[in-house]
Amino acid sequence: MHEVTLIKGDGIGPEITEATLKVIDAAGVKINWDEVSAGEAALEEFGTPLPEAVIASLKKNGIGLKGPLTTPIGSGFRSINVALRMELDLYANLRPSKTFPGVLSRYEDIDLVVVRENTEDLYSGVEHMVGADAAESIKIITRKASERIVRFAFDYAVDNGRKKVTAVHKANILKLSDGLFLEAARDIAGKYPQIEFEDRIVDNMAMQLVLKPEQYDVMVMPNLYGDILSDLCAGLVGGLGLVPGANIGEEAALFEPVHGSAPKYTGKNYVNPSAMIMAAVLMLAYLGEKEAARRIENALAEQIKAGRDVTADLGGTAGTKEMAAALAERIKVS
Ligand code: NAD
Repeated sequence: MHEVTLIKGDGIGPEITEATLKVIDAAGVKINWDEVSAGEAALEEFGTPLPEAVIASLKKNGIGLKGPLTTPIGSGFRSINVALRMELDLYANLRPSKTFPGVLSRYEDIDLVVVRENTEDLYSGVEHMVGADAAESIKIITRKASERIVRFAFDYAVDNGRKKVTAVHKANILKLSDGLFLEAARDIAGKYPQIEFEDRIVDNMAMQLVLKPEQYDVMVMPNLYGDILSDLCAGLVGGLGLVPGANIGEEAALFEPVHGSAPKYTGKNYVNPSAMIMAAVLMLAYLGEKEAARRIENALAEQIKAGRDVTADLGGTAGTKEMAAALAERIKVS
């Protein structure tokens, strides 16, 4: 029996979480869910969107599944998601974008993985005004964080049969900060001679991903570029409703959909639960439940390809609940 922290999240979070739990249950994996409240619900109940109990539960269990969280506006809190990543030192953000045949997209056979550094760069929160009319945000890059994220990318490539790692940077302009990242990437790459290594300047990378995505495999980059390019990759496979993310550190790992809480669809039984289900697939693989992960992913791919019992964004007429119920049946007989 696995013990896993569960944060249902805000907006559409509870609906896609219910759908995901149903699917995990159908795959026969036994999980004891340690449910904790964060986000808007916690702000109402406890006066803070990130109560200490959330961090404590994640530290105790070392693993969590999380729905999207709305960052309350005007509460003085930066972002709960960024705070969680910082508190638990979840330094690696892994975002695989893979084509599901049958999804309307201009591209076929996309299979890209963005490994985004999660703890520094322009997300360190070091910002200040210079007088009334200028502002400075400090970009922090360290050798330690750069080396560990590049090592993570190469280890992921080795463990998952990947062939190439591309380091993405802007070292031609940001000679010190991105220069240090690139130097660290080259140093670590030398330790993995079995994996091809190359580097790309981020603006060129954005164009290359649109023109020739098939040339890329695993990409590793500092925080801001990872934030932007992982959404670009999500676009290549048909949108945010399908793409999962994992935040991984030495002590804990937190799995979530890439999309947000889509408040306008709250309670409407309308949105696609696939990104959250795929986050659970990543989580199950991390827990060593590889067979269950494979069964869920295959069943979801089959259902999407068949085009029946899928939500409106996938061209169907099913609601969140109906899509999950059909998927659960498909998994039970697989
Ligand atoms: P969003 O991802 O919530 O929604 C943007 C649009 O994408 C939606 O209006 C909808 O059309 C579509 N969409 C998103 N998820 C979908 C799904 N599962 N199925 C079908 N369509 C889907 O982005 P937003 O509106 O910019 O953000 C809303 C809130 O979510 C904000 O408070 C933001 O801070 C938060 N957010 C949280 C996370 C997270 O928890 N990791 C990530 C992004 C945004």
